[in-house]
Parts: sequence; structure tokens; C-alpha cells
Amino acid sequence: MEESIIAIARYMVMKRLINDVIALLAIKEYLLDGSSPSAIAFKYKTSKFKVRGHIQRVIDKAGNYRVATKLLERLYPHVMSIEPVMLRSGNRILCTLCNTYVRPSDAESHLRKKHKEFINNVIRNVIIGASVKEF
Ligand SMILES: [Zn+2]
Repeated sequence: MEESIIAIARYMVMKRLINDVIALLAIKEYLLDGSSPSAIAFKYKTSKFKVRGHIQRVIDKAGNYRVATKLLERLYPHVMSIEPVMLRSGNRILCTLCNTYVRPSDAESHLRKKHKEFINNVIRNVIIGASVKEF
């Protein structure tokens, strides 16, 4: 359970920091609102395959659908209150933590490599905020 919380918090925090709004909404609307992957894909003009991928990753980390839903319910508001640090500028992304431009496909790996401490602090705060005591 403890590992699942951290894994899901990490996944959601990364998506929030790089400002991947569609991934966050797809996960939330499927697990918390009960929308279908095809309805979500249609609404956000993305592929059903991508939507299913995001959902599946969160469910895998939780172990099952029910635990994923419970954990997301608590984590989601705290994840959404974080300010994204990656801002789109034309077809590049500006990392506001170090003022470096990166390609959109490199946004997550840039954060993971260069701002590990920062990410871990954000994750810790999200988990404390969600009052998941185990952490
Ligand atoms: Zn940076």
C-alpha cells in the first residue's frame, strides 16, 4: 500500500509538473467520474490508446482498480494545487526551475535528472497533504 501511494503520487506529480493536463484529466475522469476511455479520448481529441495507457499505469501501481480509485481521490486535489514548472513556449518547453529550454519529449527526463530533490519534496508534500500517514 505504502509503495503504491508513492508510485501514484510520483506519476501524478510528474504529469502535473510538466503540465500534461490531458493525462491528469483522463485519469481523474476515468477513476473518479466513471467516464469511459473512448468518451475521454473524444472530449480531449486524443487517442483511446493513450488514455488507456495513462489509466493502466495508475491501476498497475495501485494493484487494482479499487485501490487506485481510493488513492487518487485523496491525492488528486493536492496534485492539482501544485504549480507546473514546465511552460510551453512555441514548440519548446521552458523549465522554470533552471531556465533551460528542452524538447517536449525530454521534459520528464529533464526533471528526473536535474531536479530530483525538488520532485521528492513535492511528492512528500502531496502525500502529507493527502494525510496518508504511512509516509
Ligand atoms: Zn530544469
